[in-house]
Amino acid sequence: MGLKLGWGYTWVCDLRCAFCYSPRKDRGVWCPRLVERILDANEILDVNWGTGENVLEPSFLEALRIVHRRGVPQSVTSNGALVLRPEALDLIDELDVSIDFPDRRRHDLWRGRAGAWERACRLVREAARRGVRTTVTMVALPANSGYRTGYEMVELARGLGAEMLRINLYFTRRPRSDPFVPEPRRAWELLLGVVDAGARFVGTSDPIVAAVLGVEPVPYAGRSLRILPDGWVTPATYLTWGPWRMANLLSDPRIRDDTGALRTFLGISERVWPREAPERVAVAGRDYYLELATMPRISIRGVLGASQIHVGYLPTTVFAV
Ligand code: SF4
Repeated sequence: MGLKLGWGYTWVCDLRCAFCYSPRKDRGVWCPRLVERILDANEILDVNWGTGENVLEPSFLEALRIVHRRGVPQSVTSNGALVLRPEALDLIDELDVSIDFPDRRRHDLWRGRAGAWERACRLVREAARRGVRTTVTMVALPANSGYRTGYEMVELARGLGAEMLRINLYFTRRPRSDPFVPEPRRAWELLLGVVDAGARFVGTSDPIVAAVLGVEPVPYAGRSLRILPDGWVTPATYLTWGPWRMANLLSDPRIRDDTGALRTFLGISERVWPREAPERVAVAGRDYYLELATMPRISIRGVLGASQIHVGYLPTTVFAV
């Protein structure tokens, strides 16, 4: 069985998003030679480069070239900075651009940098012009949930020339004290706004959203690995702390001389998600969204089938716009 990799090349980033999952901003350990070794020794289905803003590392383009030469599909998640290195667009199969709000003011405020929204929009337009499959990706937060934002995000993505809109429900380990968890009803309204704006469902690997839309989620656990900038391997994007850190690719004696053992650390088996909404939420470990999973089902149009690199390595939902 091949692996889907979510790979953080670096933590370096030029934004300061209030809700960032990666508070570290230092450089990682990866270089093109090590990327090549991992690819040599494993059957890799596809790679998504995320975490920090990878394109800010000078050697990242060479890593993209290596993956491209091998014919492994790859995508990059960017905050917009990729527009500074447009040659990268010729090496990738998909691009995800993080835009959380339909308007410049709130996006720049939440992302901690004036001009961030404009730069991200410019990147989407440029990628679309070059024919790269491009997705606008938003994190659902209290400030951007609700019907109107859902509707307007579809219009924005469409207007910029993106093919898809992807939504990640904010994930937290501290739901009681975390100010970034959207109210379940507002998250439900966000999804409704997206559907009412004419977006067609592509796929979801989020069992909570799957319950609301009445579809089967694509399992993301068991076939994907997250490689962190410091070499640690974890089973999924959001499971990056303590007990989930399964091995370090650069220092673990079991794999120091043989990166082919990467699959050894695929420590969780594929799960069969329960059909009932509350059980799905329990399996997903995000009980704070229980109310969302039990809200009225939203009818979706045109199930297109999940073909996007991201569906399958983290809980996320994709609509074609
Ligand atoms: S762009 Fe991503 S990595 Fe950078 S601060 Fe924002 S959330 Fe964190």
